[in-house]
Amino acid sequence: MFKCIKCAKCCYNTEMILLKSDIARLKAAGYRLSDVAVKVEGNYYRLRNIDGHCVFLDPDTNLCKIYENRPLGCRLYPIVIAVDTLEVTVDTDCPMSHTVTLDDILSRRELLLKILRELVEMGIVGKRL
Ligand code: SF4
Repeated sequence: MFKCIKCAKCCYNTEMILLKSDIARLKAAGYRLSDVAVKVEGNYYRLRNIDGHCVFLDPDTNLCKIYENRPLGCRLYPIVIAVDTLEVTVDTDCPMSHTVTLDDILSRRELLLKILRELVEMGIVGKRL
């Protein structure tokens, strides 16, 4: 079973895509999108980095300031979806990626499907689904 050691490596130089539901949740929590995200080519948003790390990481504690409201992709990590191929893989940049089991992936299938649906709705992945 996956064992996160809270090293926060995944919070540095983040490229995490914000889904529509992520943006709605952040706005509801009182954040202004332009403060916490950057618009990228393709007309969608990624989490903003400040000083090389996610705007929401507290580098002193390695804790996420919005843990309860964090993006769906952060909840899924280190399991990741390649938006070009739709392949579900484990990101080996995570030092504990070797602890991810098939059960870990299967137990997140609802989350995986929700993310995939939103990626399709947003036009980020192909329309072939
Ligand atoms: S890189 Fe992996 S082990 Fe480190 S905080 Fe992120 S998910 Fe946890």
